[in-house]
Amino acid sequence: EERLMSGESSIEDQGLEQSIRPADLDHYIGQTEIKENLQIFIQAAKERQEPLDHVLLYGPPGLGKTTLAMIIANEMGAGIRMTSGPALERPGDLAAVLSSLEPGDVLFIDEIHRLSRNVEEVLYPAMEDFCMDIVIGKDETAHSIRLNLPPFTLVGATTRAGYLSPPLRDRFGVVNRLQFYRTDELAQIVRRTAAVLHVAIDQEASFEIARRSRGTPRIANRLLRRIRDFAQVETGGAIACDIARRGLTRLHVDEAGLDRVDHQLLEGMIRKFGGGPVGLDTLAAAIGEERHTIEDVYEPYLMQLGFIQRTPRGRVATSLAYTHLHIAKES
Ligand code: ADP
Repeated sequence: EERLMSGESSIEDQGLEQSIRPADLDHYIGQTEIKENLQIFIQAAKERQEPLDHVLLYGPPGLGKTTLAMIIANEMGAGIRMTSGPALERPGDLAAVLSSLEPGDVLFIDEIHRLSRNVEEVLYPAMEDFCMDIVIGKDETAHSIRLNLPPFTLVGATTRAGYLSPPLRDRFGVVNRLQFYRTDELAQIVRRTAAVLHVAIDQEASFEIARRSRGTPRIANRLLRRIRDFAQVETGGAIACDIARRGLTRLHVDEAGLDRVDHQLLEGMIRKFGGGPVGLDTLAAAIGEERHTIEDVYEPYLMQLGFIQRTPRGRVATSLAYTHLHIAKES
């Protein structure tokens, strides 16, 4: 089952994302500090006629890592090759991609923490010296030859920098952590996307959707599309605040942007484990979710809201969570 409130990309998202992705830094909303720094690094690299240093982007799904990679290529006037950790199964897969690069290209590797060790080892000399060593022949006749690669910029994306092996992490000159977006920024994104989709939306409605989007542009855009359906069928098109509010209620998205799975998670912590501390694996088993999904997709926003805290002995539901769920806290 596809989860409405997850920042992970769905099939429907992928179809529409092409048209709603901002193409340059000026249209990339929020993440001001990252943007300002990148602007300078890009300008400096262009003036030196060198590729930009390798960039690592990390943060929860849907915050704009892929978009930023495409913008970097665009601003550098370079091409982009896109792949992902799981797609690069063997060293030869990466070697093939690397040897097809044009000078100055951006190579985007999503989920870069999922590269296997031996694939990673091909990446080190490529990142550092723009070259790769290829073994030719077998047994006694085996020898390696060094191939030069065109200079390129690697942009790696991962949900958490902590997943990355230190030797890989150390080879990125620019490391950026993307933050959850503020409500006004998300409202701006919603209005921009609505304009691209030719849907009328008023200011208040854009804020209503933004408030419930878990700080995540992909979720804001997805909620907008669902609300657009309600508006189109029920009132002939334009999205006003009451339609947005009713639609969101029908989608089971609460005032804080939590959906049924979040409720299940928090209620599970409170009712089954007395509010915690409860270990992540225990919690995952209790609500029938994968540990890494809880860690990467659900928990970051619940922590951002202050509903969950991480302690050395496990996760704890805070009094804010009790209040939000209208559950009295026993003392
Ligand atoms: P990630 O790679 O981090 O999972 P994406 O770059 O695919 O996220 O972004 C998800 C969606 O959100 C895209 O459709 C993109 O258009 C939109 N988006 C992300 N960041 C921004 C932003 N800063 N401004 C406007 N739209 C954004």
